[in-house]
Amino acid sequence: MSRLGQKIAIVTGSGQGIGKGIAQRLAAEGASVVIAEFNEETARAAVADIEADGGRALSYPVDISDLPAIERMTAEVASDFGRIDILVNNAGVVQTKPMLDLSPTDWDRVINVNMRGTFFCIQAVARQMITQLPEEFAQVVVPADLINMPGGKEATSERPTKSFGKIVSLSSISGRRGRPLSTHYAASKAAIISITQSAALALAPYNINANAVAPGVVPTPMWDKIDKDRGALYGTSDGEAMAAFVDTVPLKRVSRPEDIAAAVAFLCSSDSDYITGQTLNVDGGFEMD
Ligand code: NAD
Repeated sequence: MSRLGQKIAIVTGSGQGIGKGIAQRLAAEGASVVIAEFNEETARAAVADIEADGGRALSYPVDISDLPAIERMTAEVASDFGRIDILVNNAGVVQTKPMLDLSPTDWDRVINVNMRGTFFCIQAVARQMITQLPEEFAQVVVPADLINMPGGKEATSERPTKSFGKIVSLSSISGRRGRPLSTHYAASKAAIISITQSAALALAPYNINANAVAPGVVPTPMWDKIDKDRGALYGTSDGEAMAAFVDTVPLKRVSRPEDIAAAVAFLCSSDSDYITGQTLNVDGGFEMD
């Protein structure tokens, strides 16, 4: 497969779980992948796995709640590779705690990574992508905010159909409705749907696409933690929360990281050049809006 041949992709939080699955899929499709991850050990292992499969990857240690670190990463990747074509905002943290017990510290930790970190990764990489626009296209672009309408005012006949950058962010089915055991997490994932829509409008004049995926339940270290935390709160046994969820999924199984990675790879490829501002549920039919 070479759908993403020559592309330079950053995948945040890709040392394990869904992010690692996404990095492996993008690399298998030909992209050079930056494993942007704050756990250096898992990041190195992910790089080794991708290289063992014949792909190209390197690890870049970053904490996306540290805004100067995001700027440094963007500048260094752009300088080392010459460009950034794809950003996948996957890094995220979760906490299971009843709404009435949440502290400001709990709130800030989840929001700082999932919402603030994701937004500033989008902003930094989008700025870089705009500097990469082909000269002839850059000349006809009028930023949307200057003329107060989505898409800018340039003549459609002059617009290339090709995308000049792909941004995909990980929302969640938790962003689609309330979650009394993870209110801050659900809020952060709903925010990603909104940020994706705003980014799609702000970046449409540059033919840069911004989309999101909303996974259902994917067995990863994050879900192991949710299961254990629910067990500690309510005395449920390991796997019980996930089993209860599967009962409500039309396709009657949980998702594999590969299911999410396939949707992300599509949204990173030229097959989705006319799709922007969307959040795609990848959840076995659990949510239908
Ligand atoms: P995970 O906890 O298994 O992996 C998350 C990765 O992100 C880890 O490698 C971690 O080190 C990294 N990370 C966390 N904070 C970071 C930071 N500040 N800077 C850089 N890296 C950081 O999680 P997962 O289950 O693979 O989930 C990946 C994404 O998918 C998350 O955004 C999550 O909210 C979302 N999601 C997961 C599920 C699920 O069921 N697992 C469902 C819906 C959405």
